[in-house]
Amino acid sequence: MPIQGTTAAKPIAIRVAGLHKSFGTHEVLKGVSLTACEGDVVAIIGGSGSGKSTMLRCINFLETPSSGTIEIGGEAVSMHADGSPSDRRQLERLRQSLGMVFQSFNLWTHKTVLENLIEVPVHVLKLPRAEAEARARKLLARVGLAEKEGAYPAYMSGGQQQRAAIARALCMEPRAMLFDEPTSALDPELVGEVLQVIKGLADEGRTMVLVTHEMKFAREVATHVIYLHNGVIEEQGPPAEVFGSPKSERLKQFLKTVG
Ligand code: ADP
Ligand code: MG
Repeated sequence: MPIQGTTAAKPIAIRVAGLHKSFGTHEVLKGVSLTACEGDVVAIIGGSGSGKSTMLRCINFLETPSSGTIEIGGEAVSMHADGSPSDRRQLERLRQSLGMVFQSFNLWTHKTVLENLIEVPVHVLKLPRAEAEARARKLLARVGLAEKEGAYPAYMSGGQQQRAAIARALCMEPRAMLFDEPTSALDPELVGEVLQVIKGLADEGRTMVLVTHEMKFAREVATHVIYLHNGVIEEQGPPAEVFGSPKSERLKQFLKTVG
């Protein structure tokens, strides 16, 4: 029994420590750290070019860190001294445990929505097709696309495509979801339907790391907010503090500009 007034420690889903990343001589991340426990929603905010995408992409090794450590579910990603992964199989396994959603949807254009969702579960995870389809249909219904399973992405709105991309990531039954500005490429009237889906995931206790320009949304769903500036975490904390009483002048200015 937990002692009254204490909460049992939640398992750590993602931990990044002392992450550095340079492109040539340009140091983009200068030692950033992040911890997301199970059920946490960590929002990363910051100006354009501050390193938000790079940080997110390093978490699943779409970019190779220059140095630092990354742990997924308590398991450290094995790296060589130069940051490159030293155990490809482990990397694939850990990568599959993270669902990534990009700004630009990235659906396969020559496949229907259903085919998009089952492609990796069937061909990589070797899930029986019927099982993968059942899972996919359930998730399409979740994101409000039950009627669209036979549609090709080009015939869908941006909001529908992004919801399909979210369902595709969920089809892998990820331990955590990574979102990189999932609504930035959408027409304003389509932003709400995608945010609503992400909010639903947060409400059901999914672990997420979310890069976003939607400050109101970040304030609403995040359990922790990180403000990145020039590759350094300038300020972080609970949303009420970061948005309600920012300490750094830079953050104050930033919040004024994004308003
Ligand atoms: P944000 O997502 O916060 O806008 P990014 O992480 O995309 O910022 O980029 C941070 C900096 O790193 C930028 O100056 C960008 O030009 C640079 N950068 C990002 N990706 C690459 C790359 N593949 N090669 C060289 N420079 C890059
Ligand atoms: Mg970016």
